[in-house]
Amino acid sequence: ANAATNDVCPARGGYALYTGGQEQECTRRLSLMGDLRQAIERNELLLYCQPKVDIASRRVCGTEALVRWQHPVHGMLSTMEFIKLAENAGLITPLTHWMLDAVFSQSYAWHEAGLDRALSVNLSAHDLYDPMLVDRIQCLFSTWSVSPELIQFELTESALMQEPLVALEALTRLKKLGIRLFIDDFGTGYSSLSYLQKLPVDSIKIDQSFVMPMEANNDSAVIVRSTIELGHNLDLEVVAEGVDSQAVWNLLSAVECDVAQGYLISMPMPAEQFSDWENEWVRMNTAKLTVPGQ
Ligand code: C2E
Ligand code: MG
Ligand code: MG
Ligand code: MG
Repeated sequence: ANAATNDVCPARGGYALYTGGQEQECTRRLSLMGDLRQAIERNELLLYCQPKVDIASRRVCGTEALVRWQHPVHGMLSTMEFIKLAENAGLITPLTHWMLDAVFSQSYAWHEAGLDRALSVNLSAHDLYDPMLVDRIQCLFSTWSVSPELIQFELTESALMQEPLVALEALTRLKKLGIRLFIDDFGTGYSSLSYLQKLPVDSIKIDQSFVMPMEANNDSAVIVRSTIELGHNLDLEVVAEGVDSQAVWNLLSAVECDVAQGYLISMPMPAEQFSDWENEWVRMNTAKLTVPGQ
């Protein structure tokens, strides 16, 4: 890349390198960044959520909050892509603030409708270094009078490893509010076990790259099994993400994995559809349990 290209397109934070069509790609990203800034300001993002189900009882035990961006021209954009873009463009803070507002308001609405379902919010590494984040969260709890067990946070192993001491301090402050914390994408971040043990977390989410192939690939199955054992030995709840087949569910059930999340149960859906989905899930699973002879 020449200097001019670098100016408009800083490849920070391990951003994917590109060779062909560089300028076009940079122009696209720059224009998307401007659009994202506006989308946040104009409230054009969407709150989606995906259920988490307790494997032994088949009960819904929570949902993950996932942001979506329906671009006026390009349609629904890949979340993975625009989160990276937001991280590199310094837009994560406003995005996280938008998400927190959306999640608290949804949690309040569900509570009013008689549904108390935990929502877990993904935080980026950058959020952990925002000294105002915990104050903002505390303020949202009192504004909406939402109880602390209904809002949870997910942090990837790699976000926690960027500045381990800062991360530990932020997590400790969140934990003091009574919030449940998850380590996301577990197994992909090369963190040391002694560091993990010091973190005030409640759950680990085994990354989908280990869960999805576990039926066909024995190495993945071994990794999943030993992670479950490790988690349980450390008194942590273990969630498997990317559960997209009955075969994988059965394997996880056999090794006493606690919670499953994935397309087998449901794709992420607009948050306002969640309570209908849950009613249907309960109906289906109650029917299954009462089939004679099963
Ligand atoms: P994640 O937190 O690990 O979320 C799980 C991702 O896996 C979601 O993708 C979900 O749709 C997808 N997924 C779940 N089950 C299955 C399955 O069975 N099969 C397949 N193929 N995929 C499955 P999504 O929503 O595109 O999000 C991607 C990543 O973007 C998330 O990974 C998270 O790291 C990040 N993200 C999403 N929303 C937010 C947000 O509000 N803030 C921040 N900071 N990051 C977010
Ligand atoms: Mg997550
Ligand atoms: Mg994950
Ligand atoms: Mg992931």
